[in-house]
Amino acid sequence: MAGLIKREDVDAVRDRARIDEIVSAHVTLKPAGVGSLKGLCPFHDERTPSFHVRPGVGRWHCFGCGEGGDVISFVQKIDGMGFTEAVEYLADRVGVELRYEDSRTGAAAGRGPREEPGRRQRLLEAHRVAAEFYAEQLFGPGAQAGRAFLAERSFDRSDAERFGVGYAPTGWDSLLRHLQGRGFTQAELVASGLVSQGQRGIYDRFRGRLVWPIRDVTGAVIGFGARRLYDEDQGPKYLNTPETSLYKKAHVLYGIDLAKRAIAQQKRVVIVEGYTDVMAAHLSGVETAVATCGTAFGGDHAKVVRRLLGDTTAGGGLQLASGASLGGEIVFTFDGDAAGQKAAVRAFGEDQRFHAQTFVAVEPGGMDPCDLRMARGPEAVRALVDSRVPLFEFVIRTSLQQFDLDTVEGRVGALRSAAPLVAGIRDRSMQLGYARSLARWIGLDTEEVRREVSRAASVSGQARRSERRPERRPEPGDAAQGPASGMGAPVLAMPDPRDPVARVERQALVVVLQYPQHVPASFDELGEDAFGVPAWKAVHAAIRAAGGAGTGRTLGGGAWVEAVSEQAAEAVAPLVTELSVAPVPEDREEAIAAYVADVVRALVDLGLTRRIADAKSRLQRLDPSAEAEAYGAAFEQLLAIERERRRLRDSA
Ligand code: ZN
Repeated sequence: MAGLIKREDVDAVRDRARIDEIVSAHVTLKPAGVGSLKGLCPFHDERTPSFHVRPGVGRWHCFGCGEGGDVISFVQKIDGMGFTEAVEYLADRVGVELRYEDSRTGAAAGRGPREEPGRRQRLLEAHRVAAEFYAEQLFGPGAQAGRAFLAERSFDRSDAERFGVGYAPTGWDSLLRHLQGRGFTQAELVASGLVSQGQRGIYDRFRGRLVWPIRDVTGAVIGFGARRLYDEDQGPKYLNTPETSLYKKAHVLYGIDLAKRAIAQQKRVVIVEGYTDVMAAHLSGVETAVATCGTAFGGDHAKVVRRLLGDTTAGGGLQLASGASLGGEIVFTFDGDAAGQKAAVRAFGEDQRFHAQTFVAVEPGGMDPCDLRMARGPEAVRALVDSRVPLFEFVIRTSLQQFDLDTVEGRVGALRSAAPLVAGIRDRSMQLGYARSLARWIGLDTEEVRREVSRAASVSGQARRSERRPERRPEPGDAAQGPASGMGAPVLAMPDPRDPVARVERQALVVVLQYPQHVPASFDELGEDAFGVPAWKAVHAAIRAAGGAGTGRTLGGGAWVEAVSEQAAEAVAPLVTELSVAPVPEDREEAIAAYVADVVRALVDLGLTRRIADAKSRLQRLDPSAEAEAYGAAFEQLLAIERERRRLRDSA
């Protein structure tokens, strides 16, 4: 094991790294009450946001899948890093110099060769250096063909610089020598995918090509796409970085770093087909454009863009006839050839939940955005995007094209061809709407179309039932979810959320964790019997062990939650995170103090009420004449508790 990072340094990193900033690179967050933000969870598939972030306490929690933690665990999960690696990554971003504990075996830690930790940082650094190298080469003497390629497509020098376009020299080891000169080892270079391995050693993967740096959402270069320039090049027209620990083509979207902000603001993402199309689109004012790299747009890409689009069911979105409200649009541009249309038709068979927000923009002349910008200028690219039609409409109308609708035979054929498509729309009201549209497009009676659609639906329904699939398919994130993480912790039975006592207890813990400065001192006087629900009792115990709300007032924010987590048992710590991120119903700043006091008062009241019931039952079990003294004492006690409760209620 490599040396451990010193505890104070880990704390400093956690303190300085702004969790909202780190999360925002992956998820569009919007305000959810005072000091709270929410968005679509990156760790499970959802349409309404249940992923909450509380910058003030430095914590995140998803109320959908139960994942949660601090800024370090977020980076670990989202980028698949180990703890040390995640701390190193964040330390680098926020400028904390890390120190390492010497390990017990005496091996030099910290400076010694650390294989695994830092690997990702090294690979990112290699890519950064490579991108710089390629970009410089583009303006060197050997890159004439590269510059000509760009100029022929109306891209000038400043365009190339804006997108970081570069040139990979024709030699076998130009980049290789450059990186070795910067101290990168052979193992690192092989792992980076920047070199290929042959029988006689390693050599540059990209040679004599125009290269585009492919960046992740945070803007870090994670790979390259490279276009062939010379006739003697026997390789494919486009060559990309192979799968590496940084570069996963199923997730990668070229241009996402540049488009991210516009996607979140405009609630739209435009999918184009290549690097030059992304450039042409952005330069034409379509700043939401991205492209997949060497693969079709798939489910993992959809997840990436949906998280940036944000909430897709509530507020501000497009209102459909069916009443569904959509928060974002995914627009595919196709150059109108059969391949593009086939892609759209294929999309029909898959998961349809997001088809209602999917649109298609086809350029009738078969031009892609790059051609279009050259031929007809930037307005034409914007007009192409504006001409989008819903995916359902596009697919259905495409199926009609092969028929002559002026003949009876043609209309019947068109109906038979299109009815199964309409029947395949699983949203009932949309299906009806499209049946009406289909009738209009073909020129038939609506009833006749509906009959054909329901006939097709019953046929395909039988087929579907025989291959029924589970509601929610397992996702990559699922495997990482250990048994002790999240709400599934087996040790504690979760309280019934409908139980009013459990609700009051939970809300009290929420305010004590989030607003210790407003918690009345009476809370810290409560004994261990103040909470009745086992899970909340365990959290209360951790709060007491951490010094109570009084300590929370001094520590404040993240340090307080951290202190409570440390006192909590392994199964209880996720509950602490959840409570520290949970939304608070009162979201006006000026009213929070009063709300907190109310919640704590309700909790104390609850405890007193429980004790009154206990005292009453004790009285009933005593015989007033035979046990007069005990009875008298119990009665006094009951009156005292009742007085206390009255005082409490009067103070409200
Ligand atoms: Zn989740």
